Amino acid sequence: MNPAAPLLPDTGEPGFGVYVHWPFCAAKCPYCDFNSHVRHQPVDQPRFTAAFLREMEVMRQLSGPKTVTSIFLGGGTPSLMDPATVAAILDGISSYWHVPDGIEITMEANPSSVEATRFRGYRSAGVNRVSLGVQALNDTDLRFLGRLHDVADALKAIGLAREIFPRMSFDLIYARPGQTVEAWEAELKQAISYAVDHLSLYQLTIEEGTPFFGLHKAGKLIVPDGDQSALLYEATQEITEAHGMPAYEVSNHAKPGAESRHNLTYWRYGDYAGIGPGAHGRLTRGRNKIATATERRPETWLEQVESIGHGMLDQEILDDEEQADELLLMGLRLREGVDLARWQQLSRRDPDPVREERLLEHGFIERLGNSRLRCTPSGMLILDAVVADLAC
Ligand code: SF4
Repeated sequence: MNPAAPLLPDTGEPGFGVYVHWPFCAAKCPYCDFNSHVRHQPVDQPRFTAAFLREMEVMRQLSGPKTVTSIFLGGGTPSLMDPATVAAILDGISSYWHVPDGIEITMEANPSSVEATRFRGYRSAGVNRVSLGVQALNDTDLRFLGRLHDVADALKAIGLAREIFPRMSFDLIYARPGQTVEAWEAELKQAISYAVDHLSLYQLTIEEGTPFFGLHKAGKLIVPDGDQSALLYEATQEITEAHGMPAYEVSNHAKPGAESRHNLTYWRYGDYAGIGPGAHGRLTRGRNKIATATERRPETWLEQVESIGHGMLDQEILDDEEQADELLLMGLRLREGVDLARWQQLSRRDPDPVREERLLEHGFIERLGNSRLRCTPSGMLILDAVVADLAC
């Protein structure tokens, strides 16, 4: 793996990604339902590294020999890992699969000053793209979101990431309580001025089991209603489009050619190996795909890997119909839409003409030639309903 190799362009193929989940965070954000855990004792990184490598071996047996098109270190907060841990994980991936020079290797990072000091080490280990969890560009909202950094930290981390990594993205959360369209427009324009070529813009969602869920249920946290959220979403589309970073997926925006290769693999329904606590994978075996899922609790996962070589709880075989549904669900998130021939091959049918016609008439979907179907911007607002309608 040559960290200095120029990044390979997207081929348009679904590809094969490797995802590694680091399940620890310095603090738990009140809106977060990811598999992330706070530990007050230092995490035994060499022990976890050894377990990641053991589980990789089992995933390699399931996947067979493959050429990796992207690697993603997600979490949790992977930027709490030492650079030596990251280097060992990347070396492990190269020992089990073919990893060409120049593939996208992304790491999620929080913009605290401590984590930013490790950026050069991650770069030397082979990371060539960083995705920063900035989330807001005002200190009041950062505190409300439970973040440990402030705007000054975020701007420093963005500057450093731009200097060190060939590619960089950051996340923002909008549709925050009381957020007006004007305030969000100003914040988004400011964000675009700091961005390189990619931004992830998520609406705040209230997830069951989080502290925000309890507050929301008790009426102590009011989020924008559907109409206000739609206005915020539309403003997001207009501004990013006008600045040359249109949405290529519901929440992801990039200059053409700077799309996240790894996430495209999910949305194009490619294969991916999911390593680590709570990771999911999709691996093709003959006509079927195997859906893998691992134990979520980090220490339980660790002990299971140490005793039987992997932390998998489940290996579900997805038949053609289930794969067709997943292909549609993922592909309609993309502006490039879904490959209809692939969907027809799996589902052994055409889209229901009456349902398709109705969605076309309402302007929720459109055909791209004969071969692709996609959601329009207004269809994206009701994506789940569109998918449910077409999948019937
Ligand atoms: S830092 Fe990210 S993964 Fe960790 S608790 Fe906050 S939102 Fe969740």
